[in-house]
Amino acid sequence: MSAAVTMQLGDDGILVATMDLPGRPMNVVGDALMEGIAEAAERLANDPAVKGLVLTSAKADFCAGGDLDNMFRWTRPEQPFEASMAMKHVLRRMETTGKPVVAAINGHALGGGLEIALACHARIALDDPKLKIGQPEVKLGLLPGGGGTQRLPRLVGQQAALQIMAEGNDLDPKKALGMGLLAELATDRDDLMFKARTWCATHGKSQQPWDAPKFRWPGGDSRTPQAVQLFSIAPSIASARSQGNYPAITHIMSCVFEGGLLGFDAACELESRYFAACAMSRESKNMIGTLWFQLGALKKGASRPQGVPRSKVGKLGVLGAGMMGAGIAYVAARVGVDLVLLDTTQEAADKGKAYSLGLLDKAVKRGRSTPEKRDAVLARITPTTDYARLEGCELVIEAVFEDRAVKADVTGRAEAVLGAQAVFASNTSTLPITGLAQASARPANFVGLHFFSPVDKMPLVEIIVGQQTSDETLARGFDFVLQIGKTPIVVNDSRGFYTSRVFATYVMEGITMLREGVHPRHIEAAGLQAGMPMPPLALQDEVSLSLSLHVAEQTKKDMAAEGRPYTEHPGMAVIRQLCEIGRIGRKAGQGFYDYGDDGKRLWPGLFDMFPPAAEQPPQRELIDRLLFVQANEAARCLEEGVLRSVADGNIGSIFGWGFAPFHGGALQFIDAMGPGYFVARARQLAAAYGARFEPAAGVVAAASEGRRLAG
Ligand code: NAD
Repeated sequence: MSAAVTMQLGDDGILVATMDLPGRPMNVVGDALMEGIAEAAERLANDPAVKGLVLTSAKADFCAGGDLDNMFRWTRPEQPFEASMAMKHVLRRMETTGKPVVAAINGHALGGGLEIALACHARIALDDPKLKIGQPEVKLGLLPGGGGTQRLPRLVGQQAALQIMAEGNDLDPKKALGMGLLAELATDRDDLMFKARTWCATHGKSQQPWDAPKFRWPGGDSRTPQAVQLFSIAPSIASARSQGNYPAITHIMSCVFEGGLLGFDAACELESRYFAACAMSRESKNMIGTLWFQLGALKKGASRPQGVPRSKVGKLGVLGAGMMGAGIAYVAARVGVDLVLLDTTQEAADKGKAYSLGLLDKAVKRGRSTPEKRDAVLARITPTTDYARLEGCELVIEAVFEDRAVKADVTGRAEAVLGAQAVFASNTSTLPITGLAQASARPANFVGLHFFSPVDKMPLVEIIVGQQTSDETLARGFDFVLQIGKTPIVVNDSRGFYTSRVFATYVMEGITMLREGVHPRHIEAAGLQAGMPMPPLALQDEVSLSLSLHVAEQTKKDMAAEGRPYTEHPGMAVIRQLCEIGRIGRKAGQGFYDYGDDGKRLWPGLFDMFPPAAEQPPQRELIDRLLFVQANEAARCLEEGVLRSVADGNIGSIFGWGFAPFHGGALQFIDAMGPGYFVARARQLAAAYGARFEPAAGVVAAASEGRRLAG
């Protein structure tokens, strides 16, 4: 008998097959699990004592998806095709024995896990709002290859199925019930198993709707007028969102449309061909490599100093209850940390706490939390102006004004009441940590914890190691970031750290194009076509032009004080020109764009100030500039030791500023095309646009040695 699926036949003739993949925290679809399910299907088919089958799991999840370790090793398209067909044969066998099969969904049913459940005649799930049901394959450049693209539209209709698969977002059980994906909900595990058995017992002869001779697609198949309407609009909506950078989305639409013209088995084979195309694509290799393997390694502590025991913060101090401080307080209190939120006035501190109240009230309204849970989280936040309340804090994070003197003042005051072991962290976005640590009596305990705004939504925290930061301090900062459910990257101290420094190159490149006479609409389109979440000029308006100017002026002063040369970026002249006429960004209602109640539009005066040239460069040139400039700066960060690993660089770029995920991050961008090609193209760009494109020495070395940056 398979080790991955255990079977137990009850007196009622119902066979309960329990998935429990040995040695893995979750059930994942691979040979071992499918062999177990195949055995259960055969027993169902051949044993007259078995009247029905209930498929469930002994783990916390039902089944979490495909075995990516295995998929990543595929090098030939036959491999994914055959693996996908093999899975389908098992599921087809299971759903065509004539006897009832029920999925008793006790936890997440995602990806291949949901596909297994779709091959059951009914699905019953625990009524737990945290339980996730969905087909997230698209997020890794894949599509459901176990029949999902065929069963789902035949069950819930083409439009709903497309939404689930092309967006990859999870459903909660109530929503899944509402759309007919689930048959029933259960209150607890006993109820779940009882309902599943009862369903089997009351549905003697079972077949899938699509195997019934008179099957009609809910909402119609691909020949109906509804489908004509859907498929004349869906590709353009998808293309507007993805800019054609995610072939998996197109392949999913093809599976649903073409599958809607075919019989079930032919449609399933078609799906396997599209699955193979996805699995072999560079996009999926990039995303799986970075968003699965590198992210997994970072979360397991690849960048954390070894040998320091794991720690947990019980009491936290947050200095400054403004936008960032209030956000940090919220994410910490939500995971059970008691904290003191300190500001200069009680009113400001209370306002910071009220930010949590606002978010929690929203969660209660949406049914994601309860008034009791909300009150418990709020009770953990103590707003105050009194430094004495910081006593006993294991960690203090300062998020006061971006001003060295103010930061130095609060550092001294806090340290006066903190224990000798306490860690002091700064959330500065621009000021080097080593310099700020000069205000500290114990610089070894001083570290940078750079959060992103809005804190409750942004997944990344950039940990900055100052010259004197100890390994223990770094490890404790790292553990705290994991404790609050964020992803840590670790970088060495430098101006702009990693994320702000590279992000700025994207925005500044767009602004420089404007100065050269590139039409602003072409610039903005190129940003989106490159796969960035926001175009460069709009993004600069969000950040605010005056802030960037202020940072540039400060940097210039600092470099002069250090006796180092400062070369101004050519785009800075544009920012200065706009600031001089009060166009400082979105907060002022005017920057590169005009902002009104009806949205934003490019400021017409921009065309007079920077007249578009008669001849415009090809979009590809603009896209390359926007991506190469970021990748090259990231490579410089690696070479200078600001980045400590390729994984930190890739994850930091995607989670920090949304670097085109299908490229797998700013450094994977180089590795995917090959450092040799990158060097050649970067040199062309350098000759045309300036030294900032001169390829980083580390990439040149990798190219000449024939290796990748990731090794
Ligand atoms: P903010 O102006 O919204 O909040 C600053 C808060 O600090 C205010 O409530 C202010 O009253 C308080 N404060 C000022 N002096 C104080 C003192 N001496 N003691 C106690 N409280 C004091 O600013 P913010 O946007 O929250 O930024 C705070 C820090 O976070 C800055 O260092 C900033 O560079 C950094 N940061 C900001 C962002 C962002 O997107 N806003 C992102 C990352 C990091």
